[in-house]
Amino acid sequence: MQDRPFEALSVDTLAMRLADVAAMRDKLGDDPTGWRAREVGDGNLNLVFIVEGARGTVIVKQALPYVRLVGDSWPLPLKRSFFEYHALTRQAARAPGRVPEIFHFDETQALIVMEFLSPHIILRKALIEGRRPPHMARDLGLFLARTLFRGSDLCMRAGERKADLALFADNVELCEITENLVFSDPYFDAPMNRHTSPQLDLLVAELRADRDLKVEAQRLKHRFATGAETLVHGDMHTGSVMVTDDDTFVIDPEFAFYGPMAFDVGMLLANFWMAYFSQRGHESGGERDAMRAYLLIVISKCWDTFHTEFALLWRTERTGMLYQRSLFEDQGDALGAEQARHRLMRDLWTDMLGFAGIEIHRRILGLAHNAEFEEIEDVDMRAACEARALKFGRHLAVNRHGIQSLAEIGVLAETLD
Ligand code: ADP
Ligand code: MG
Ligand code: MG
Ligand code: MG
Repeated sequence: MQDRPFEALSVDTLAMRLADVAAMRDKLGDDPTGWRAREVGDGNLNLVFIVEGARGTVIVKQALPYVRLVGDSWPLPLKRSFFEYHALTRQAARAPGRVPEIFHFDETQALIVMEFLSPHIILRKALIEGRRPPHMARDLGLFLARTLFRGSDLCMRAGERKADLALFADNVELCEITENLVFSDPYFDAPMNRHTSPQLDLLVAELRADRDLKVEAQRLKHRFATGAETLVHGDMHTGSVMVTDDDTFVIDPEFAFYGPMAFDVGMLLANFWMAYFSQRGHESGGERDAMRAYLLIVISKCWDTFHTEFALLWRTERTGMLYQRSLFEDQGDALGAEQARHRLMRDLWTDMLGFAGIEIHRRILGLAHNAEFEEIEDVDMRAACEARALKFGRHLAVNRHGIQSLAEIGVLAETLD
């Protein structure tokens, strides 16, 4: 299979095509005629198969030379699988136990054989159902701090960091998707946009005419495209997290690249805020109060855990070329290092709020929408939920420099809702 040109797998061809892969035989059993494949991909881009054999089950994820959601009119390079593979190996080392184990990677076929997570379900689905996984916020706060700190010049050796920067710099096309779909398309009449119409038409017109908002969105795009601080996941929403009540996994890092530390954090918190604003569409009155309270706690816990773990790593693993200990602790000036950390966290906080605000907008105005809003059947109700989220996102993006705390933002969310 190694030398054959790329060919998409199907449920019928998968077993025979992967019959010689040692990792497949090892995990599934030696008789490929007994392997059963089904396609379960619910994402926008790739094929995902669950393959069961006598011995066990694996996931086979394969990229296609185009965007699955749109078709071959929108080509997208296979090399995204290469970036996903390399991101998964970095994340596994930096945040052990939080990403699926990789069993096999085939660059030409753009496929990854990995651990089948079961009975884990996609976090977005769990939240729509009203489930409240108890450890997820802390697990994700730790994941973010560990991957973002350990992938940066705060921690890595400069040469290694620059080699990784160069490796991931080639993930041009997936970055371009984010650059267009997230930071620009929502603010003009881009061809692939859609929104709940006519209910939101007036608000959409207002947002597109909002000069302060457009300027902030472009400043954030500038940060995104040029702020190569660390290896970010790049698609860190609740559809890229799989959970049980005791366990949390992060999947699907094909958008990985060197970008601003705040990007993943902002995207994730934005998706929790959207879950919050969708609650009215999933209740007939009041049954979701506990869920709303839970989501605000999740946001605080995730951020606080991120903040605390980042501070711990700052004190214990600051081995990179930035803010060297020789300037601070080694001279008895631990306070200087803490001062530098506070400054860095302040910038990260401000960026995080901005990225969150823009992520909320693009999920309501752009191409890729969120199930928590889409599944609200009453269109007027859906539009009302989306309108609140849009106003909230505008506040975060435009007023981020003056926002002091999550408590303040929580009050705003409650007032709008
Ligand atoms: P895409 O890049 O197309 O969005 P994902 O990696 O997000 O693909 O996978 C699509 C879906 O496949 C996920 O939403 C999840 O339901 C399922 N899936 C992916 N990876 C795993 C895994 N390791 N274990 C179990 N299910 C998985
Ligand atoms: Mg996905
Ligand atoms: Mg585990
Ligand atoms: Mg993906």
